[in-house]
Amino acid sequence: MIKRVILLIGLLFCLTLGLKAQNRLATKRIEGVQYVSAQELAKLTGAEIFFELYLQKLVLKLGQRRLRLTPLSSVVVADDQPLNMPYPVRWIRGQIWVPAKYIGPALFILTQEDLAWDPSHSAFLRPPPSVNISGLEIKPKENGTLITLRLTKPLDYEVKEGGPDEIILLIRGGKPWKKGLTSIPTQGVIGGVTVSSENSLCRISFKLNRPNIKYKSYYRSTPPRIILSLWERGSSAPSQKENPLDVVVIDPGHGGKDPGAIGPGGTKEKDVVLKIALRLKELLRTRLKLKVILTREKDEFLPLSRRTQIANENNADLFLSIHANASRKRKIRGFEVFFLDYAKNDDARAIAAAENSAIRFESPLPSPQELSDLDFILLDMIQNEYHKESSELAGIMVKRLSSKLRIKGRGVDQAGFYVLNGAFMPAVLIEVAFISNPEDEKLLKQTWFQKKAAEALYEGIKEFKERYKGGG
Ligand SMILES: [Zn+2]
Repeated sequence: MIKRVILLIGLLFCLTLGLKAQNRLATKRIEGVQYVSAQELAKLTGAEIFFELYLQKLVLKLGQRRLRLTPLSSVVVADDQPLNMPYPVRWIRGQIWVPAKYIGPALFILTQEDLAWDPSHSAFLRPPPSVNISGLEIKPKENGTLITLRLTKPLDYEVKEGGPDEIILLIRGGKPWKKGLTSIPTQGVIGGVTVSSENSLCRISFKLNRPNIKYKSYYRSTPPRIILSLWERGSSAPSQKENPLDVVVIDPGHGGKDPGAIGPGGTKEKDVVLKIALRLKELLRTRLKLKVILTREKDEFLPLSRRTQIANENNADLFLSIHANASRKRKIRGFEVFFLDYAKNDDARAIAAAENSAIRFESPLPSPQELSDLDFILLDMIQNEYHKESSELAGIMVKRLSSKLRIKGRGVDQAGFYVLNGAFMPAVLIEVAFISNPEDEKLLKQTWFQKKAAEALYEGIKEFKERYKGGG
């Protein structure tokens, strides 16, 4: 009898182990692509899962690290790093789904663990402990491709050309996780990866999908990894450093059915801020040769969250939202520059509330419960690494606006603006003047004033670029 019980317990134990090892996840095929649910990812990684109601983002949180998923967006943000996938996140009957094969790099940032999707078993595999080459990442860059090979300990290696369309990495004593390395999606100039080993020499071959590719390799020790940078002859190597400032997203506030504030003379905020934004775009493009994207180029409506999304999708280095202020007190005038943080006074709180009220034009309208979650979202945002840079940028902008516009400024302030929330770059909101004040309204309508305002903002960006991004 006892024997039988032991046998039974043993059998149950084996069964549980077997199930664990297999770790099969529920998947769904959407337009031919295998998707896995965010709930399953949370279970797999041990992450907490919650929903940022206002931003309509699902967040997986593991310790201090976060992975944010936005329905219909193919950009996922892992610990402030936007990552592009070829297929979007889906939202089906209250469940969030991600393309299983492509979520690996984001999961790595969240868990610091190499995971490779195995479509035949519908499971994420982990490298066995016997390997010392545990992961591979291929990232397309603006002008090339960056390959990172993750090691568990330092290893000697050599890079050579196998032919016009092949680059080979030879690693002495390398024990590769073959299944993992060959199952990652190929991107950029890489058309395929093969891995073999012989006499303790590991050979990783990268097939290139075009000839004339130059390469350079680097070794980095913490954590140990080999980086291979590939680029086309004639262009320069893809930058490994944080990008210098070269993409700016300018957001002219309001638009379409949302006129913004309206002056006593009938001037609409949406019209003047668009004119300033268009001028600023020209200045940045022609004088600083920056890539400039406007969230809207014409009189059209755009939800608040879409504006920062445009900045994130374009990997912007700077986000500027341009507005004109309004107050019941007609006498108040002057410009003011804000960055995102808790409001410290009622004036700032009122301005943010007025700008945030643009949300009433959005459909479906978020509920009051959802709106009150902003406190929680802000808390999250304040830890953002761009907080300090945003406040510094705001300071520079105030200085430049006062010297150019020669009207009294109200300085730098902070408040909870929805439109700045979720921007993964330095971001400020500029209130150029008070459209509710008859004199300021007159100025806002003048072409010369719009030009001066654009020039002040241009100079501010130029100074910020020189000071913080090494001139680039
Ligand atoms: Zn506004």
